Formats: sequence, C-alpha cells, structure tokens
Amino acid sequence: MVDRLSSLRGQDRAVSLLRRYFETGNVPAGLLFHGEEGTGKEKAALAFLAGLLCRNRIEDGACGECPDCRLLSSGTHPNLLSISPENHFIQIAEVRRLKEELSLKAFSDRPRAALICPADRMTIQAANALLKTLEEPPPETHLLLVAHRLSRLPPTIVSRCQKIPFRTMPAETVEEILGALQAKGKRHSPAALRAAAACAGGSPGRALLLLEEMEEGRKAWVGLFSRQDPQAVFAAGEAWRKAGDREAQAAVPLSVARDLALLSSGGKADIINEDFRDALCTIAGRKTGEGWTRKFRELLSMSRLPPQAQKRLALEAFLFGLHGKD
Ligand SMILES: [Zn+2]
Repeated sequence: MVDRLSSLRGQDRAVSLLRRYFETGNVPAGLLFHGEEGTGKEKAALAFLAGLLCRNRIEDGACGECPDCRLLSSGTHPNLLSISPENHFIQIAEVRRLKEELSLKAFSDRPRAALICPADRMTIQAANALLKTLEEPPPETHLLLVAHRLSRLPPTIVSRCQKIPFRTMPAETVEEILGALQAKGKRHSPAALRAAAACAGGSPGRALLLLEEMEEGRKAWVGLFSRQDPQAVFAAGEAWRKAGDREAQAAVPLSVARDLALLSSGGKADIINEDFRDALCTIAGRKTGEGWTRKFRELLSMSRLPPQAQKRLALEAFLFGLHGKD
C-alpha cells in the first residue's frame, strides 16, 4: 500500500507545496520536511517519494498499480535508499555508504530518492559528508530529509534544502484524526480519544502514543474505584502530583466517576467507559446515585486545585474515602 498526499490531514501548506513540485516537474535535489514529532512528516516524505518513483503519477502522488509502485509497496524498489540512526545517531559511515550507492548507475530509469530520517540525528561529520552530495547531487537524485528540530541541523544543510513545514494542529483536528484511524481498526472510547487529543500538544503521532497509555490509565482507575489497594493509591497520588496537565490528568477518573453516577441511578445509561460496563455496574451498586455524584464533584474540584495545593494528599484522601460509608 502506497500513501498519497491526500491522506495527510491538517497539513495543507505542506501538501500544496509538494503538489506544486509534481505539477511543475521541478523537484529540488534537497527537501527538508521539518516540524514537531508526530505531525506526518515521514508519511508525507514517503508519499512524495512514491510519487517520484511511480511511472503513472496522478495529481495526488503514486498510482499504486504500476511496476514501480508494486516494488515500492514490497519494500524492494532499487531506486529508494534510506538511512536511519544506528545507536541513536546517524554516523558518517552510513552517509558514506549512501554516497557510494548513489555514485553507481541507477537500476531503473526512474529518479532516485534517499530518505534520511530523522536527519537531525546526524553527527556533525555525517552532516558534512552529506553536504557535498546536496551541493552537487547526481542527476535525477533527490534527498529527502526529515527533521523534528531544525536547530539541530547545521545551517549549511538547512540552507541547501527546500523546506516543507509541518505544523501542530488544534486538539479538535487531532481528535478527528484519531477518530478516523480508529474507524479502520482498534476501538477506543470517545473519552480516551478526547483526553489523548487534549494532551498531545497538537501532534497526532504523540496522541496515538498517549492513547495507549490512557487506555492503561482507564483500567487502573476502574481498579482504584473497585477495591482498596494502598499501594495503587500511593502510586496514583504520585502520578497525580507529577502530572503537568491537570485537566487532562483528571479526564480519565472523572469519566469513571461520571459513569458510576449514571449507572447507580439505574436504567441502561449511555456511559463513556462502555468496555468496562460489567465492572462499573458492580462498583456502582455500592453507593446511591447521589453518593456517586458527590464523589464526581469532589474529584472535579480537586482537579481544579491551584498548582501549589497538596494534590497528592487530596487524591489519596479521596481514594481511601471511596470505600467508606456515606
Ligand atoms: Zn505507480
């Protein structure tokens, strides 16, 4: 499966710059995809190089069906070279290997593309070695550099590339992207999607990572509400204290408390943590609807405590208090 430019969301400027290169056929030798991690740079670079190698290119990139697209899909296109860090950094030896391969005659009549990702992990020696290739590239050769931080690249490299900027996005766009991905596979609750999008700093890639973490968080919180486990309570207190983003930190426990208040009021309530319904129904029966609503409000006011407050103590008291009578 070869990606196309239209599969990139929230990056209109980058997409229109790349489309223009396809339209004019005037593709620079050095392209630098830069911006926050998780904003789609590598995906865009792959879609772009697929369009370069495809022999029946359409406006949106690769056709997906020609022999070159098939080779690319199977990861065996001889005109695609790539280097990535070994032991955290891209060393000069890897750049030298790349240059040697580029000095040989191309296997096919298509252009050649080298993907360097993340380029900001090149050592200074590696970057200097690459510089000469950027200055005098072999014919029909394109270097695609992907970098999270421009400031970590030597200015000489940056100035020899055409820059393709990738931006962070509003939380709503990140949530939409997560929702679209979810439609294709794994199921997460709407609460988990919203919470992950809110904490991701505008990066869908980071939101995806957070989503997994938060899924674990929901399980842990259902456990905290279900039984008295001092060790788990202290761990939660510590995590609560350390969390930078108060609102996001409270999203998961608030969703659990809200579900308990709804379930204990009876009926087939529409709850957020649907996948934990059975466990939540059992917990809900331990208090009245009013009791759970009170707990929800307590948690809410705790989440709004000023930064200097004793958050850890407040949360521990709340959790130990959950299992008493009220
Ligand atoms: Zn094709």
